[in-house]
Amino acid sequence: MTRDYQTFLKQQAYIDGQWCLADNAQVLPVYNPFDQSLVGHVPNMGGSETTRAIDAAAAALVSWSKLTALVRADYLLKWHDLILTNKAALATLMTLEQGKPLAEAVGEIEFGASFIRWFAEEGRRTGGDIIPTEKDNLRYLVIKQPIGVVAAITPWNFPTAMLTRKCAPALAAGCTMVIKPSELTPFSALALAALAEQAGIPKGVLNIVMGDAKAIGDVLCGDARVRKLTFTGSTNIGKLLYRQCAGTVKKLSLELGGNAPVLVFDDADLDKAVAQVMAAKFRNSGQTCVCANRIFVQTGIYDRFVAAMTVAVQNLSLGNGLSVPPVLIGPLINEAAITKIQALVDQAVSKGATVVYGGHVDPLGRQFYTPTLIVNADVSMDIAQDEIFGPVAVIYRFETEAQAITWANSVPVGLAAYCFTANIGRTWRVSEQLAFGIVSVNTGLFSNATTPFGGVKESGLGREGSKYGIEDYLDIKYICLDIN
Ligand code: NAP
Repeated sequence: MTRDYQTFLKQQAYIDGQWCLADNAQVLPVYNPFDQSLVGHVPNMGGSETTRAIDAAAAALVSWSKLTALVRADYLLKWHDLILTNKAALATLMTLEQGKPLAEAVGEIEFGASFIRWFAEEGRRTGGDIIPTEKDNLRYLVIKQPIGVVAAITPWNFPTAMLTRKCAPALAAGCTMVIKPSELTPFSALALAALAEQAGIPKGVLNIVMGDAKAIGDVLCGDARVRKLTFTGSTNIGKLLYRQCAGTVKKLSLELGGNAPVLVFDDADLDKAVAQVMAAKFRNSGQTCVCANRIFVQTGIYDRFVAAMTVAVQNLSLGNGLSVPPVLIGPLINEAAITKIQALVDQAVSKGATVVYGGHVDPLGRQFYTPTLIVNADVSMDIAQDEIFGPVAVIYRFETEAQAITWANSVPVGLAAYCFTANIGRTWRVSEQLAFGIVSVNTGLFSNATTPFGGVKESGLGREGSKYGIEDYLDIKYICLDIN
């Protein structure tokens, strides 16, 4: 384990370029999910510190928004380079607070940094329009301007990438920010702030507060100077924040829960489908919003698919994310996650599902769940309706394409869906009919900075990454000019 991570273990919040404690000096402990040992403490802040962070962001907005996109891009590229230079230390810190295997943490640092590079470049391409006039004396122009102070609230499952996906377009567009990371994984966010400071990003441009989520959220939503809220997290909290932002009519980006279906058709390449479904299911111990939650397998390939999945699930290694040789599955984020998963598994079994492998807490520790395979499930079970958010793969048998599509679409959320088939006509038909923001065909891994990530229905609003991602941080202004 690289000890360099201690350089980045910042145990203070970052407001207006200052590292600071909570006004009441209270702190919150952060524990390692592997063995529940203490990683460190962070300030337990609330409304007053959040207001000060908004003050700082509002003050910094004046000069940051006036910089050219090229100058802002230079700051962002410097930040990007520093993140990559220090990726081993940052990844170690992430594994300590989040639990994911180190290789996945390194991958997330690289993935997170890629958004900074992408949006540094995209920020230079946010041109406006000149619209053909309808009157001799008038000219119609459209310019784009930074929306203003942006608040970001981020989750624990991707503590770096969920933050850079928001900071990079916001800062590139000329906005300033107040960020509240999850209290479970605040150190990755603070490490990013330390590197932003090193990169010379001016004080007040990026502020990080943490502590009482409700108190901080209330101020971020209620303060009229905050013109946009960008949130990644659960659908329930997303709905709450949506309502809370109504009073000041903020622009919203909401990246909420998913319940990803996988459609494996008879004509799929079996080996590829199994390998890709395993990746889509078990990455981050099953704790991603795009994890394969409902695996629908057509009857002609069903038995072979289940047999191959059984072997693959049994071969997954569990342990400390920092161990050598590396493991594939780390601990879950907390015991509440274990309790939720066990309840879903128990309810499915009580309604007739069969556990082929696993189905219980792992002897390795109280935050480990044995990778699990369940068959004979049906879509009425809670395990089909809820996000499992853990290492449990559930397989359903289907007969026809129409049936699989109906089942896939029968949930209120619509983030990502997967389809495995060799038939190009089916690829089109299914992709068009799936009510999801993302359809991934014959691959389990699709995320990158250049493409639009986001959902439909109750999975949220807006897109992150891609050329569309920066538009969420810009206002459109129409200028009508009389030239006489
Ligand atoms: P969560 O409970 O909704 O928490 C997300 C963030 O909201 C955390 O920072 C949390 O703070 C904060 N929060 C909680 N209550 C709040 C309140 N009343 N006001 C303001 N902020 C509040 O979600 P999670 O359990 O961390 O993350 C898992 C969920 O995120 C899953 O549903 C997953 O699908 C979703 N997710 C979606 C995407 C996507 O791109 N669509 C990506 C990743 C995850 P504390 O942690 O400090 O309490």
